[in-house]
Amino acid sequence: MKDPLAALLAEIRGCAVCAAHLALGPRPIVQIAAGARLVIIGQAPGAKVHASGVPWQDDSGERLREWTGLSAASFYDAEQVALLPMGFCYPGAAQGADLPPRPECAPLWHARALAAMPQCRLTLLVGLHAQRRYLDAPRALTLTQAVRAFRDAPPGCFPLPHPSWRSTGWMRRNPWFAAEVLPALRAAVGAALG
Ligand code: SF4
Repeated sequence: MKDPLAALLAEIRGCAVCAAHLALGPRPIVQIAAGARLVIIGQAPGAKVHASGVPWQDDSGERLREWTGLSAASFYDAEQVALLPMGFCYPGAAQGADLPPRPECAPLWHARALAAMPQCRLTLLVGLHAQRRYLDAPRALTLTQAVRAFRDAPPGCFPLPHPSWRSTGWMRRNPWFAAEVLPALRAAVGAALG
């Protein structure tokens, strides 16, 4: 019998549901495996990741690994860590910034992908798109408010800002992030991976 997760991955890789809206065409980039204990829900691949096909292989990924304390080897071990963006394909850019993740993607794929990873103990919600979907947060909640209230997130969920270059200035303006959130994040990630 065919492995259901392999079948799901094959389906995802063949997806072209929103091809008409994708500047460079469909190229779904995800990392999932049945044993994953940490799920990282980000936004969408950027142009560099679209070109390489390797999730988070860019400056944002470097920063996220630093924040979480994960080595590259652990981060890219699908049996430990799943990488599941809100939009699996590069959405294109406008006015110097990447467009938001395609809205069709998470409703189409996430429930099945998450159900295929029953050992997940911790989900990092990276950026406001993931937080709006999974924290059931009011639309008016800002990213800073959502991250500041990380202790009130539902069990097993941890909200984070997107680790883009913009987060450097944001961290300077919000020193509580490095002082309080990052140590708690590293502890939670360590506990999830056991
Ligand atoms: S972004 Fe998601 S829904 Fe759109 S083509 Fe890629 S995998 Fe399919």
